[in-house]
Amino acid sequence: MNFLEERIVKDGIVKENNVLKVDSFLNHQMDVALLDEIGREFHRRFADKNITKVLTIEASGIAIAYAVAREFGVPMVFAKKAKSINIDGDMYTAEVESFTHKNKNQVIVSKKFLSENDRLLIVDDFLANGCALQGLISISESAGATVEGIGIVIEKGFQFGGRSIRNLGYHLESLAIVDGMDPVTKQIKFRKQE
Ligand code: 5GP
Repeated sequence: MNFLEERIVKDGIVKENNVLKVDSFLNHQMDVALLDEIGREFHRRFADKNITKVLTIEASGIAIAYAVAREFGVPMVFAKKAKSINIDGDMYTAEVESFTHKNKNQVIVSKKFLSENDRLLIVDDFLANGCALQGLISISESAGATVEGIGIVIEKGFQFGGRSIRNLGYHLESLAIVDGMDPVTKQIKFRKQE
């Protein structure tokens, strides 16, 4: 098991409805040393990609993107959830359905902060059905930027997001892939990775 899988086994809580709670170290209280390690690991995996910016979505992606951007020495940009009333022509927009809250949000990034010269690393905390990532990819495409890689902290491999994003040809790296979790026994099964 890698450092993250060990932490998930120790402190993750398997809930009903395919939800894994990691709010003691990632989603509410944050273990900043763990975030630093996550930053270093994504840097190691994407070091040869000449990343110019790290892109994520608020709120839980922000700390992760910060740690990753710190390692690359580049800015990070987070897509904001916005009321459609605020949206004007200066924004790239996408619609994202939230897995955890089951609602739809317009997400926006100012055109000032992404361009066709950007080589992006997209990061997020979880990958479930892939809606958040599809929104970020769509915003990157609108900007004419290149998505050089996607880094996910916890992928739920039994949901379809990972497969569909890989099928689209993106270089997706997940630090932990959960292939199954049982809310009764609390058992978590990880996919073996290199
Ligand atoms: P997706 O868009 O891939 O369906 O879901 C990804 C988003 O939903 C992530 O940004 C994350 O915030 C949230 N999410 C999805 N599954 C889980 C989960 O099992 N636990 C937690 N804490 N968040 C999740």
